[in-house]
Amino acid sequence: MKVINNIKDLIAWRDSINLDSSLGLVPTMGALHLGHESLIKKSTDENLNTIVSIFVNPTQFGPNEDLDKYPKSIESDLKKCENLGVNAVFLPDSKEMYKNENLTRIYAPSDMSYVLEGFTRPFHFSGVLEIVLRLFNLTRPTNAYFGQKDAQQLLIIKKMVNDFFIPINIVPCPIIRDTDGLAFSSRNVYLNSEQRKIALNIPQTIKNMESSFKSGERNANNLLKIGLDSLKDIEVEYLIACDYALKKIDIITPNQSLILLTARVGGTRLLDNLWL
Ligand code: AMP
Repeated sequence: MKVINNIKDLIAWRDSINLDSSLGLVPTMGALHLGHESLIKKSTDENLNTIVSIFVNPTQFGPNEDLDKYPKSIESDLKKCENLGVNAVFLPDSKEMYKNENLTRIYAPSDMSYVLEGFTRPFHFSGVLEIVLRLFNLTRPTNAYFGQKDAQQLLIIKKMVNDFFIPINIVPCPIIRDTDGLAFSSRNVYLNSEQRKIALNIPQTIKNMESSFKSGERNANNLLKIGLDSLKDIEVEYLIACDYALKKIDIITPNQSLILLTARVGGTRLLDNLWL
């Protein structure tokens, strides 16, 4: 497995791959867990070559967010990638990715990026697109793998690919959960054991809404009420039902709808969702 720290070597590595063999890209911010590993496994299953990027992207963090204390575990991340059969890991620093200060900017579509996660983090999704587009252009993958866990991110990236006619297949990957049900997240390490217990309300709520949906409930407000009732002791930031353009909906249309939930436990924001 090749570990690449700069763009020059990345371009050389990309050029060394046979043009008609497939390449999967898995963009991450590191501190790899089983959620990330599921994306990597899917990529190594579906492509002849896989590249994982590990980069804590400063442009997607707001001024009071956890950029400086974002969890890091580079050594074990590299081991995990190697064990999973990854061909290359791209591990640049910020200067390498953002060479000067007067950069061309991208703006994520306002109706999708100033709502939900973007309501409290208005520049977050533009920052995500700025790094993802750079990674797409540098690696020119056949397939790029993103988790459904970050539903809004996935939908906005799909929109960019569509709007800019980017010839890359975006592969959505299901949410992977720990044995207690909590969706894996690099930020789960911020939870102490008491907070983790409280946080389990979140996957339980998702389960409750899912079983009601499976029993035939299609009224979005009824599903959200079930959700809110099970989230009594938790500080909910938002719980909404929407379509894939992130517009609120009253009726759930299967395969076109999702429920998004963000709650705070202690100082930690936890995201979960249900694709219906
Ligand atoms: P991150 O390192 O948080 O930027 O995540 C990198 C990729 O892993 C993103 O596409 C996430 O959606 C995905 N991911 C993170 N957690 C999970 C999870 N629990 N299940 C599936 N995918 C995940």
